[in-house]
Amino acid sequence: MSDERFEVVIVGAGPAGIAAALTLAREGVEVLVLERGDFPGAKNLFGGILYTSVVNELLPEFWDRAPIERHIINRRWVLLDEDTQVALDLKSARFDVPPYNNTFTALRSKWDRWFAEQAEEAGAMIISETNVEELIIEGGRVQGVRTGRDEGDVKADCVILAEGANALIAERAGFRPQMSPRNRVSAVKEVIALPPEIIEDRFHLEGRQGAAIEYFGGAVKGTVGSAFIYTNYDSLSVGVGCMIEEFLRLKMAPYDLLDWFKAHPMVAPLLRGGETVEYATKMIPEDSYSALSDLYEDGLILVGDCAGLVNPSIHHEGTNLAMASGVAAAEAIIEARARNDYSKATLARYRLALEESWVMKDLKRYRDSVHFMLDNRELVSDYPDLAIRLIRRYFTVDDMPKDELLNGLWATIKNEVSFLKAARQMWRARKTML
Ligand SMILES: Cc1cc2nc3c(=O)[nH]c(=O)nc-3n(C[C@H](O)[C@H](O)[C@H](O)COP(=O)(O)OP(=O)(O)OC[C@H]3O[C@@H](n4cnc5c(N)ncnc54)[C@H](O)[C@@H]3O)c2cc1C
Repeated sequence: MSDERFEVVIVGAGPAGIAAALTLAREGVEVLVLERGDFPGAKNLFGGILYTSVVNELLPEFWDRAPIERHIINRRWVLLDEDTQVALDLKSARFDVPPYNNTFTALRSKWDRWFAEQAEEAGAMIISETNVEELIIEGGRVQGVRTGRDEGDVKADCVILAEGANALIAERAGFRPQMSPRNRVSAVKEVIALPPEIIEDRFHLEGRQGAAIEYFGGAVKGTVGSAFIYTNYDSLSVGVGCMIEEFLRLKMAPYDLLDWFKAHPMVAPLLRGGETVEYATKMIPEDSYSALSDLYEDGLILVGDCAGLVNPSIHHEGTNLAMASGVAAAEAIIEARARNDYSKATLARYRLALEESWVMKDLKRYRDSVHFMLDNRELVSDYPDLAIRLIRRYFTVDDMPKDELLNGLWATIKNEVSFLKAARQMWRARKTML
C-alpha cells in the first residue's frame, strides 16, 4: 500500500461505509475500504434491529440470501416499576410478508461481513486489519489517509469517513463536535443463547418471526434511556443504553444497570435458561441536528454515526440513516468525479441531498428530544411511575365501589401532578418526541 492512489478511500466497513462502497463500485469508481477489525463486523455492536428500506433498494429482496436473524412482526413498548409492567403491543400479519416492514434482527458479525461481500462483488476493494490513524491534509484539502501499516499512506481524490460513533479521526481534525455527557449514550449488550423453539414458545412466534421489546421508566431507573430484548434466531440481544449524564447522576455503571434489568421479575422469565455468549459496550452519538458539522470539506465527506446521523427518538434508528448517508455521499462523489472537482463547493450536494430526504427531516423533527427529556425528567420517571400505579389500582379487584375507586385515582392525580406544568410538557413532548 505504499503511496497507493485510489479515487475514493473509505474509512470503516460498517453499514455507512459499505453502502457508499457498493454504490461507488457499481459506477466503476476505484474504491478502497479500510477496516480495522479482523473482518467487517468483527467487533461491531448494535442493539439488533436492522432497518432495511435502503438495503432493499441496493439489493432487492436481500432477505432470501442475507444472514438475517428474524423479521419483526411484534413490537412492544413497556413501562416497568419494581414489580409491574404496562405495555403497548403491536403485532401485525402485515409485517409477516415481504418486505417485512423493513425491520429485521441481525448480528453484525454476520450481516456486515455479508454486506461487505456484496460491495466486493461489485468491484470495491476491502482491506481489513488496517487501522487508519489520521487524514492526510495538504494544501488545505484532504488528500488521503495515514494507516498503521509500515507502508502506510493511501492517497485519494476523496475520502469518506465512516468510522462510527467513536469518531477519533474526524474529531482530531476538528470536523465534528466534541463528545459530551449530554450528547452520547453509553450502551451495553449481551447476546444470550437459547434454542429457537424456546424463543418461539416464549415470545409467541412461528418460524422466522421475531419480536422487539423496548423498556422505559423504572426499567432504567427513571433515566433518559431504555432497555431492550430483541429475538435473534437462536439467541436474544439484551441491553441497556442511557445518556452518559444519567449514568453519572445514578452513580451506576452500565453493566450493573443491565444486571439489575435482567433480574427484574418481568424480565428474568424471558431470559431463563439462556447462556451469555457475547458481551460488549459501545457509545451512540445523539448530537442534535443543530450541532451537526458541515459533514463535508475539500476532499472529504462524513457519513453515518461519524457524522452524528442517529435518530434519538423512540424510533432508535441508526443503521438506515447510516446507509442512506453512505448512498448520498457516493452519489455526490460520482457527480464530483464527472466534473473532476472534489472541492467543498461541489461536495455540498451531499448535504443538500440529505436535507431534502427523510434523514435530515427526521433529525430536524427530533432535534430537541434528548435535551427536552434531560430537562423534564418527570416524563421518564414520575409520570410513568404514576401511570403504572393508576392502571394497576384501577384493575385491582377488591370490594371498593368503582365510583369510590375513580375518585381516589383522581385525588392521587391532583395530589401528584401540576396540571399546567404537565399539560405544557405533554404539548412539547408531542412536538419533540413523537
Ligand atoms: C448498543 C447499540 C444499540 C443500537 N441499536 C440499534 C438498532 O437496534 N437499530 C439501529 O438502526 N441502530 C442501532 N444502533 C446504532 C447503529 O449501530 C449505528 O447507527 C450504525 O451502526 C452506524 O453505522 P456506521 O457505519 O456509521 O458505523 P459503525 O457501524 O460503527 O461502523 C464503523 C466501522 O468503522 C471501523 N473503524 C472505526 N475506526 C476505524 C479506523 N480508525 N480505521 C479503520 N476502521 C475503523 C469500525 O471497526 C467499524 O467497522 C445501536 C448502537 C448501539 C451502540
